[in-house]
Amino acid sequence: MWRRLLAGVAILLCVAIVTAFAIVPGMVDRRMNMVVSAPHVVITDAARALHRTLLVADMHADELLWGRDLLVRADHGHVDLPRMSDGNVALQVFSVVTKTPRNMNYDHNTGETDNITLLAMVQRWPLSSLRSLRARAIHQADRLHDAVTRSGGRLVLVTDRVSLTAFLAARKAAPGMHAALLAIEGLHALDGKLESVDTLHAHGFRMLGLTHFFDNEVAASAHGVTHGGLTALGRQVIQRMESLHIVVDLAHASPQTVSEVLAMATRPVVVSHTGVAATCPGPRNLTDDQLRAIAMNGGVVGIGYWDAAVCTLGAASIAKAIRHAVNVAGIDHVGLGSDFDGATSTPFATDGLAEITQALMALNFSPDEIAKVMGGNVFRLLGAALP
Ligand SMILES: [Zn+2]
Repeated sequence: MWRRLLAGVAILLCVAIVTAFAIVPGMVDRRMNMVVSAPHVVITDAARALHRTLLVADMHADELLWGRDLLVRADHGHVDLPRMSDGNVALQVFSVVTKTPRNMNYDHNTGETDNITLLAMVQRWPLSSLRSLRARAIHQADRLHDAVTRSGGRLVLVTDRVSLTAFLAARKAAPGMHAALLAIEGLHALDGKLESVDTLHAHGFRMLGLTHFFDNEVAASAHGVTHGGLTALGRQVIQRMESLHIVVDLAHASPQTVSEVLAMATRPVVVSHTGVAATCPGPRNLTDDQLRAIAMNGGVVGIGYWDAAVCTLGAASIAKAIRHAVNVAGIDHVGLGSDFDGATSTPFATDGLAEITQALMALNFSPDEIAKVMGGNVFRLLGAALP
């Protein structure tokens, strides 16, 4: 009797575990990364024609977290290679997330809890990723490297100026080619060690966001508890990043972190995904003073598409935020930073980017200005910043 009961329980447990491994990541992904369609937008022939001429670059997506195959068109989430083709996206920055607090919010988080451990377990990440956040970053980088290898040349990893120039030349002949750049969201992924910067550089990372939702060993987050700035380690990290030609990303950084980094930076920085406070107030969005300071530094800010970045979902709100950022920072310092697949709801997936081109046309941006915002500025920054 007991033996049969135990066997039954064991079978049930196995079924539960198999179900968790097979189904849970996809379920969470579907629920967390939605397209909330605005009323169906018709793209005009003029917008479509202009969009086709653009070199589009997006500074932030978190696709690597969810276990989808980047090369296969998904019916959910926001980014994959087929949809990048449809959206005429030339370059996507793929950022990796290594730790997020439970009950994540924009105001007050600590690093005491973590959602990613469970996600790593159900996706069967390497055992090392249970102990090390750096290992989580490297595992997600390996997923991108694997997609690049399997893509048959359709997806290339940009790590230096040589590979960037080669990509741009090759894409002229083959518009179906796409570039990827590896980034990190939060330097808790250094596991507290300066030498991790070199390790991550060796694995192909070329853009590092100092903080995510909580204060870490490097710097204070906009959503943390200390509201401080850079730590002593943080200052060393900035210097090491600059000497390796890794781009510093100030998205999610506290105001003090932003100003301390800008005071010491000798190279242009980015704020990869953000809103602007003037069109959508909130602790996550840049003030006009910050926009001006980033322009002075030669940097680029990526305007996001999700609700807390632009307040109302839709291409018109994105264009309005871009208009304001350009008015304050100048046309050379504004780009795109979707936050696709970043546990966000967006008005379109990456195949819908012509909607932004059309919305910018409606605000009387010239074709040259649209080309800069849609990707030209990011390509210029990378062309100067990469090793
Ligand atoms: Zn983010």
